[in-house]
Amino acid sequence: MKNRFKIMIGHRFTTILTAILLVFLTGCGSSRNRVHIKQENVRVGDSIIHVNCDANVVLPTPVVIAWVNRAAIAVTGYLGRFPVKDLQLNIYGDGDEAVGEGITYGNRRIDVHLGKNVEVSDLNDDWILTHEMFHLAFPTLPRRYSWMMEGLSDYLEPVARARAGQFTAQALWKEFVEGLPEGLPADGDQGLDNTFTRERIYWGGDLYWLLADVQIRVRTGNRHSVDDVIRTILNQGGDGGANWSLEQVLKRGDEITGTSVLTDLHNELGPKPGMTDLNELWEKLGVKDTDGVIHFDNTAPWAFARKAITAGN
Ligand SMILES: [Zn+2]
Repeated sequence: MKNRFKIMIGHRFTTILTAILLVFLTGCGSSRNRVHIKQENVRVGDSIIHVNCDANVVLPTPVVIAWVNRAAIAVTGYLGRFPVKDLQLNIYGDGDEAVGEGITYGNRRIDVHLGKNVEVSDLNDDWILTHEMFHLAFPTLPRRYSWMMEGLSDYLEPVARARAGQFTAQALWKEFVEGLPEGLPADGDQGLDNTFTRERIYWGGDLYWLLADVQIRVRTGNRHSVDDVIRTILNQGGDGGANWSLEQVLKRGDEITGTSVLTDLHNELGPKPGMTDLNELWEKLGVKDTDGVIHFDNTAPWAFARKAITAGN
């Protein structure tokens, strides 16, 4: 970059310099405003996201706001509305990763950290903010069922982004095919309720919700799905600020779909290390992985469920 600037003279150079300065001074937290926190309100339907950027955030405000909007659009598209009326979103510029350390507090606040070298493309490819926003849309369970909360956010994030056109169906199934084996029980693992490794909590929980979605769709001829479960639980007050028991979620969820899928799957995978035949699952869904390239077989028996997951009903 430096070499390119050296040969620029006169007006062009000044214009570019001005543009750089403008970007610098309008950074979400510009150095000029070091002692201040910059706040922008993002409206999503009837909800407001109060975005607070601290002085260390290096990217310009419009870039940050566009990122917040993308995540909100994906989540809203899935749920039919943004999960809470008011959200405080605190963005800090001191992160170790480009985007990281997302934490959701109940139904009112999300903190996320951006790195010093974060680029626009990092925000364009980001999944973390969408993941955090989905925590707002599901009740808080006792700690041993973290897998159910984390797994749900992990499952819904790519699904919602695919439906919003932010992620391709191929990329979504590639992520599942490559990642979900990590969620299977390893030697010595117990069920999901009693194994607290990162793999089991995130990928194991993710697998629970994928299996639930597929089984509900298969058993009800696609009339019900995890979509209905989450939307209805949210509309009945089950947002991130509500403390529910596992039994409440399983019972309500099964009532909504008229099946026993959530309870049955929990019995299989929760108290004991149930094994899932992923190759059989991919075959029935019509997902084929050829050297890392995903192809779909629309003649597979559960292809309709696979298509509905990324298209919505
Ligand atoms: Zn999470």
